[in-house]
Amino acid sequence: MFHSAVIRLTLWYLTIIAVLCLLFSAIVFTIANHEFQRPPGRPINQKLSEVQTEYYEDFRSRQAETARRNLLQNLLLFNIVAVSTGGLASYVLARRTLHPIAAALEAQSRFSSDAAHELRTPLSVMLLETEVGLRNTKASKTDYAAILRSNLDEIRRLQQLTNRLLALSRNEKLPMQTSSVNTIVSSAVQHVAMQAKHKKIIIQNNTNSIALQAHADSLTDAIIILLDNAIKYSAPKTTVTVTSQAKHRHIFITISDQGIGIKAADIPKLFQRFYRVDTARNTDGTVGAGLGLSLAHKIIAAHGGDIQVKSTLGQGSSFTIALPLHK
Ligand code: ADP
Repeated sequence: MFHSAVIRLTLWYLTIIAVLCLLFSAIVFTIANHEFQRPPGRPINQKLSEVQTEYYEDFRSRQAETARRNLLQNLLLFNIVAVSTGGLASYVLARRTLHPIAAALEAQSRFSSDAAHELRTPLSVMLLETEVGLRNTKASKTDYAAILRSNLDEIRRLQQLTNRLLALSRNEKLPMQTSSVNTIVSSAVQHVAMQAKHKKIIIQNNTNSIALQAHADSLTDAIIILLDNAIKYSAPKTTVTVTSQAKHRHIFITISDQGIGIKAADIPKLFQRFYRVDTARNTDGTVGAGLGLSLAHKIIAAHGGDIQVKSTLGQGSSFTIALPLHK
């Protein structure tokens, strides 16, 4: 498809070049021809005898004919050179023009197929469990409750997945208000409190009340994603710490855990959509969709900030958000 689009665009460029060249040649030839056909000036005719005039005019018309032929040959050569080099340049230009569009289309189609794949897994699980449950005539109330609980987990996963897909596809500008780091982090910590309690993980919120310009709900979501990961990828009875610091006209918010850590080779890919390091290693058996960090990155970028990761395998990770301080 990309190749045929390049060829089509090349042909369009080439047609434009050919038309311009032909137009230019026609104008040059018409002007030159007009000059060739102009009668000789009076002073020359007056000085010559009748025979000399006849001879002179014959000579002049032969000269004009040769010049016309030479001009036509040169114009033809010019057109051949212009169209062939123009053709080559058009091909290179068409490839360059269409390459970013092809890359964007490719990314979009990969995103759609990855999203469909992620949606299909929980749906298949729910379908299978429901079918098995319905076929089992001896199933007890407890069995049905277990199926419903499992389906509820899958529904929650689907809900989170669709919310994140929606948030990733939205491109609106976030309205900023004055807020404080402590308020935002506290509300995010509250959101994951049950999850942390379930794993007996302590969350230490050591942030201070530095004022910042932020879209509070989105920034809270980004911190929830980081806290959620810190809990998910840590063993029970560990500690997750959140700190904040104002330095170099930026606010740094760091979320550190004592979890499984991330290999150095995986760190640059963490923020890619659907990237998961190794789902089998999640300490609570949950399988993420690999969308959390890319969404967090998008939110931080919308605040004009950046996010950095430091991690040691087996010892823990720390994610630092840097947000510009607007004075
Ligand atoms: P997921 O939904 O899979 O957690 P994310 O985009 O949030 O998706 O994270 C991508 C991957 O990065 C995860 O699959 C996990 O392997 C790794 N990861 C993220 N946060 C941590 C962390 N705090 N500790 C260890 N690994 C992490």
